This record gives sequence, C-alpha cells and structure tokens, in this order.
Amino acid sequence: MNTLSEQFLHRIRDAHKRRKLNFWERTYLPAIVQGLALTSRHFWRNLFLHIAHRFGLFRDVPAAVTIQYPDQQRKTALRLRTRHRLTRREDGTPRCVACMMCETVCPARCIYIVASEHPDPNIEKYPKSFDIDLGKCIYCGYCVEACPEDAIRMDTQRHDIAAYSREGMWLDMKELLRPGQRQVKEPPEKFVQLSLEQLRQLPKDKS
Ligand code: SF4
Ligand code: SF4
Repeated sequence: MNTLSEQFLHRIRDAHKRRKLNFWERTYLPAIVQGLALTSRHFWRNLFLHIAHRFGLFRDVPAAVTIQYPDQQRKTALRLRTRHRLTRREDGTPRCVACMMCETVCPARCIYIVASEHPDPNIEKYPKSFDIDLGKCIYCGYCVEACPEDAIRMDTQRHDIAAYSREGMWLDMKELLRPGQRQVKEPPEKFVQLSLEQLRQLPKDKS
C-alpha cells in the first residue's frame, strides 16, 4: 500500500502531465457561455411548459424534473417494500391461515392477530382480526418472508404513512384487505373482528 507521501508525489508527477490550456480556455469565457446557454435553455423550456400547463396544453410533458407530489406519484421498483396488504381468496376471504408466523418473527412486535376456526376442514384457521401498528414497524419485510401462504405482501406502492396521530398509522383489517380506503382523518377500527361472511362481503376493488 502506498504511503501518504508517495501518493502526494504521484499527484505532483501527474499534475505535470496535464494538457496545457489554450488562450481561450484560460479566460474561462467559453465554459461560462456554455454553462449560461445550458441553464437558459432549461429555464425558458420549463417556463414555457409551466405557462402552457396553465392553459391546459402539453399536460403530458413535465415542466421540471421535480415530481409534483402528491398530485404525481413517483413510480418505484416493484421490489421496494411499501405499505402492507393482505391477499384474498377468490371468495374475498383472506389467504391468511392465522399461523402466527409473521406475528412471531416480527422484531418490532407490531402485528396483532386473533385466530378463529375455519369451517372448511382443509383450512385450519382464519384471522378474525389482523392489525399492524405502522408507528412501530421498521419495514424489515420479515413478515412477508415468513408467510407460508403468500398472504401478506408489501407491494401496495403506497408510501404515504404520515398521519396526524399515532392512531392514524394503525392498519386495521379492513385497511389491510383494501389498502388506501381509509381517509387520512378517519380513525382506524382497532382490533375489529370480522366473521367469514363479513370478510366475503368486503368489496374487492377501490370504490
Ligand atoms: S415489516 Fe418487519 S417490523 Fe414491519 S410488520 Fe413486518 S415483520 Fe414487523
Ligand atoms: S404468516 Fe401469513 S398465514 Fe401466517 S399469520 Fe401471518 S399472514 Fe397469516
């Protein structure tokens, strides 16, 4: 490994190898003009587009690289861990069999499940209630990895976990089955218990 003094000597030696600047380059004027031209081009282009957007023109051409959140949502990689959801069977009931693997593995202890017997002998149990306290969640994704039924995923592409209170960060079962349904100021239905019939009746798509 080179010592510091050797590295310093290398730098001095390389400095002598640098190309000599010509007269115009030494004045820095061409570089200044180039910089101003580039900045001006972007300024006038963006100004024109901002004005055009006001009149409803060129709406699909962005006027800046800035994403106008929350009107525009940034597209993120599908593998990014975003807000949780519970996947559902054809009949609308959760795929979850209340095995408690996710609750057990969760390092933040923020998953709360109440299990109930399932009338179908092929399915041992189902979650009567399923809650996640996002205020404690560290987004590690262990719950998704541990699930043997692909019943919990973090692929909603929802990043908006901010709320007016800690209560607002609570994901109740209805919200987990239908992400994005609850309004920001609407309180969660903590530990809400739903029967299989009520779970079947929950609409599947966003209303
Ligand atoms: S992402 Fe991690 S901390 Fe959050 S609920 Fe899942 S296991 Fe718990
Ligand atoms: S690990 Fe999967 S099946 Fe088991 S309780 Fe959690 S979500 Fe349900």
